[in-house]
Amino acid sequence: MVQLANHYRAARTRFPEEKLLVSFDIDGTIIDLRHMVVYVLQAYDRHYQTNWFHALQPEDIDFHENQVSLLLKTLDVPLDERSRILTWYFDTRWSKEAIIESHRPFRGVLELIRWLQLQPNTFVGLNTGRPESLRFDTLQSLNQLGQEYRVQFTTSLLKMNPYGWEYVPRSKAVATKAFRDEGYRIVAAIDNEPQSLQAIASADVDSEILLLHADTLFETHRSALPARTVVGRSYDVSAFVQKRSLPQHVQFVWQRVDSRAKLERFMQADIHWAEVPIYRDPYTQQLAVNVGESDLTLDAVLAAFNSAERGINLKLHDTGLYIDQILELCDKHAIADNNLWFSGDIGMLKERDFRVLATRRLGAIVQVNIDPLASLIWSAPQHAKLLLEAFVSWGVTRFSLGWHVEHRKNVLKQFEHWDFDINIHDVDTMEAFLRAALLLPTSITSDFSVNGISAENEHDAASIIPLTFA
Ligand SMILES: [Mg+2]
Repeated sequence: MVQLANHYRAARTRFPEEKLLVSFDIDGTIIDLRHMVVYVLQAYDRHYQTNWFHALQPEDIDFHENQVSLLLKTLDVPLDERSRILTWYFDTRWSKEAIIESHRPFRGVLELIRWLQLQPNTFVGLNTGRPESLRFDTLQSLNQLGQEYRVQFTTSLLKMNPYGWEYVPRSKAVATKAFRDEGYRIVAAIDNEPQSLQAIASADVDSEILLLHADTLFETHRSALPARTVVGRSYDVSAFVQKRSLPQHVQFVWQRVDSRAKLERFMQADIHWAEVPIYRDPYTQQLAVNVGESDLTLDAVLAAFNSAERGINLKLHDTGLYIDQILELCDKHAIADNNLWFSGDIGMLKERDFRVLATRRLGAIVQVNIDPLASLIWSAPQHAKLLLEAFVSWGVTRFSLGWHVEHRKNVLKQFEHWDFDINIHDVDTMEAFLRAALLLPTSITSDFSVNGISAENEHDAASIIPLTFA
């Protein structure tokens, strides 16, 4: 992935005006067909009321999908039944039902495709050995899988095999040439079959395509791989994700800066916003960011944010009675509206509180956490929308949804059709952070000290790189 990232950047610099394309094989490259093998064999068990495959897991499949007979041998299936199973398997594995129900993407591949599709004048082409007759089902299943990543595949960028299931390498070469003839400059081709990469290389007269071997399960011999092939086993999109290559207009918020140590770390990083939870200290009665650290008063914190010209997201707990006091402190420290963000939970803040915040600070972000409404948005979106519009009429400008909330995918999909700004909070791993960022919400709230993303220096090209995968 690092080589692909570098190769892509070099091509972008060299050919700034051209349409760049990365071509992907589908089976064994985007789709992990081990799930299909298990699905079709277990369907056999159900159909014939047998019990050969009930314990079979995708991880048990260590052979190419054309070599199921090997499995039957190890399971000691009697010979006559073996042929009945194989007939079933070969007859049903490309059925519409099997394609829709059992195709699963490899981890990370759809994030990679999404990242590529977000880059200007950059395209993802599909170059598959599947026959033309599967065009519709192929697009339907891939677009269904891509939906939650906002990945879309179109028929014009899908090259199928005109020779049926035969002559796959020839078809790969023809498709490579076709993409070029249509005006795309092919940056890289990813395939799991060595012979397919060999064929693509033969059509690459200028040797400018980066050949990537998806080292999954494959049928043709490894020795067919052209010498310049780069071999990889996983899609680690973090190779692409430097601060500069993340969507530029997504705001990042450092979640829960509630101690001196976290505040110091935040101030050294290049994340603009920090979420600071505000309580009233039960001993001193002062407003403080952490009940246990009474010397970290809101007064002191606001002074620090003001002198650093950083944005503060005040997370308000039980504040109804002292909202005026908070606003006075913000005024005292001359925190500008564009560096001010209030967030609260339903049940903590009331209509009056939202109205006061929004009228006293017209340009500030006023956010409400909608996790308690996720089920309603999912089950009765039109009713939920009326409720959200009521919040907007009180001055709320942004809604925040937790990454781990049930129905998250459906809620985010619903928000695509609504004109509300959305923040995603509790984004707690590198993988989740990348997926969330690629969905292009208005903002993301994430604990940057634990999610493995370092953001120490804005000017360092590798300023956001994974340190660990939590
Ligand atoms: Mg393949």
